Amino acid sequence: MLLPMARQLPRRMPLAELHCHLGSAVTPAVMWGIAHEQGIKLPTKDYWQFRQMITASPTRDHSFDGYLGLFHWTELIQSSPLAMERSVYEVIGGAYRKNNITTMELRFNPMKRNRNGEQDLDHIIAASLRGMDRAMLEYPIRPGLIFCLDRAFPFDLNEIVVEKAIAWRDRGIVGIDIAGPESATFHPADYSELFRRARQFGLGLTVHVGEAGPVEEVAEVIEALEPDRIGHGVKSAYDPRTMGMLRERGIVLEVCPTSNLQTGVVSNWEEFRWIFEQFRSNEIRYAISTDGPEMLRTYIRDELATLGRLGILSYEEQVRAAETSLEASFVPKVNDVAAAVRQPAHRREVEREEA
Ligand SMILES: [Zn+2]
Repeated sequence: MLLPMARQLPRRMPLAELHCHLGSAVTPAVMWGIAHEQGIKLPTKDYWQFRQMITASPTRDHSFDGYLGLFHWTELIQSSPLAMERSVYEVIGGAYRKNNITTMELRFNPMKRNRNGEQDLDHIIAASLRGMDRAMLEYPIRPGLIFCLDRAFPFDLNEIVVEKAIAWRDRGIVGIDIAGPESATFHPADYSELFRRARQFGLGLTVHVGEAGPVEEVAEVIEALEPDRIGHGVKSAYDPRTMGMLRERGIVLEVCPTSNLQTGVVSNWEEFRWIFEQFRSNEIRYAISTDGPEMLRTYIRDELATLGRLGILSYEEQVRAAETSLEASFVPKVNDVAAAVRQPAHRREVEREEA
């Protein structure tokens, strides 16, 4: 059932991107420039082949591991202070120009940007904040950075990431996350204390769960870590008890439809129709995000437009999702302004996208 004339959110409406990884958010041309600037030896001298290497496509294998494999080159290229400053600057400014995203929460694991300890972690973090500051000087935006822990990391490395987030919180680190594929050695309960400590320092808490792993892990994470938000969480739709826990606690799901289709976590849009029906009837709060706009070649507005065009979300539900993204942001003061009076940026022409 296609509804070609479905109403789309006006571009003037500001958006928050809550779930976006730095490793999948930098335009390939910028990545190419950074790689050359630093003299990184790439496996190809052809730009188009490089672009193919770091972006998902319909012909590429749709698997979770295949998707994570795309990050190999992007994370390596971003592994220096210079590269981090430029990457963060380009992503945050670009999101504003392209999609009127006024609140960009950008996430990455700083320990996956220091060439296994060869580069100083604080230099990497300071450089990323400089990139954010530069973007803020240029555009009317309120961005923030989230540090990702990794399920495959030992506890003591993840602990360092949290301590760095706490140490730099006054400069724009707004939250922590746990990413990475399911791991037999990872138990959410081991992180209860650490998450409590991060919360005491005012950091927002989100966790990737209910994506490729089993649905049971969602309840486990909610009980052990008490997150404010959950990355993906789409599997929760299959478990009424988990739905109840999400509703009671008002936890916001960061749903990234195209990403889930690319990784094979969700089979098709019809499955998404069913998932959103469960969210609707269980009054689950959710925001729509991209996970990685450049790697997945999709923007939030494309995601919302597709959900609208397929009749999966009504126009009102799209507006609600956009409002929820601002309400649930970890960036301070984003929600201080009531939705109705939130002023869009002054732009005579807002329909045209700019690189
Ligand atoms: Zn993610």
